[in-house]
Amino acid sequence: MTDHPAGPPPVTVHETLPARVLIGPGARRTVPGECERLGVRRVLLVSTPSAATPADELADALGPRLAARFGHPAAHTPLAVTADALRLVDQVSADGVVALGGGSAVGLAKALAVRTGIPQIAVPTTYAGSEATPVLGETENGVKTTRRAPDIAPGTIVYDPELTLTLPPGLTLTSALNALAHAVEALWAPDATPVSDALATEAAAGLLAALPLVLAEPAHPAHRGRLQSSAWLAGLCLAGTRMGLHHQLAHALGGTYDLPHAPLHALLLPHVMAFNLPSAPDAAARLSRATGGADPVAAVARLARSYDGPTTLAALGVPHGGLRTIAARVAAAPHPNPRPVTADSVTEILEAAF
Ligand code: NAD
Repeated sequence: MTDHPAGPPPVTVHETLPARVLIGPGARRTVPGECERLGVRRVLLVSTPSAATPADELADALGPRLAARFGHPAAHTPLAVTADALRLVDQVSADGVVALGGGSAVGLAKALAVRTGIPQIAVPTTYAGSEATPVLGETENGVKTTRRAPDIAPGTIVYDPELTLTLPPGLTLTSALNALAHAVEALWAPDATPVSDALATEAAAGLLAALPLVLAEPAHPAHRGRLQSSAWLAGLCLAGTRMGLHHQLAHALGGTYDLPHAPLHALLLPHVMAFNLPSAPDAAARLSRATGGADPVAAVARLARSYDGPTTLAALGVPHGGLRTIAARVAAAPHPNPRPVTADSVTEILEAAF
């Protein structure tokens, strides 16, 4: 054996979280059986108003197993909302929680599970990917803190593409681009592994192929199914690798100005890709294959611009005077990125997104 002149090659670590995943049209009907399997007798059902119809159906299907419902989770898991829901868990002696909805419902179930140890089943209705991660972001007085622990991750995930049929085109588009951001950042992550590369490559290809088809035919079950399964893979990327500049920017802007999660991710992504991809040639090559040889930045920018809501930071309500402060904060916060960032370079990205 000879020593490598530049030292030993880096050791790659890949960790997989245990989770039981049920996926396919109609999968939501497996939830009562999954509760039985987990030994859960008193379910707290957390859902958003947008998921009222499937939540009513699920409540009926749970029958006497339903202990209570909580219908107002909020974005970024405010501690005050968690405290309300915890009181309910206590009052009704809930021994399990089912979240039916987007990342807000899933986040609340994670917050309850990590505080009480009760098992959770996540039934996502957007493409945000939170259900696949051991990460919980919580807010108090407008300040967001994020923690990571294995027991935050739902042990059971039920993906039913039929639950995404009601997503309006704008939310479909921005939520899918939010998922794409997880895959893109996994491709240039310093802790990428052969597994995360494979997941991210397939996720990006699936999202970019399925998204235009779903936007053209929103009720097509197979296209919805591919979009959802690709978003699952993207969520696994978010769980398994350290996110870079894109997520730092979204975190800083979203936390400071209380911005809608998916539209913010969607509008930032092409700008961060334009900045990073010249320094991430392998990611650029994989993304170019995913777009069928087209320029990935142009392809994602075209999708992002087609949103019928705000497509700039200005339109989202971010004050121009705040850009430099955000840039300085993001540049100073330690995060992995393929291209070194400075306050000036981040300001340029934000000016372009503005
Ligand atoms: P969300 O859950 O707030 O949902 C966005 C909007 O879509 C809401 O108005 C909701 O009612 C509506 N909606 C959801 N599903 C629908 C459906 N099928 N049909 C019609 N309307 C529907 O937002 P989100 O983008 O899903 O998730 C964002 C939240 O998740 C943020 O709080 C974010 O911080 C968190 N998140 C956490 C992680 C993590 O790993 N911890 C990952 C991604 C997102």
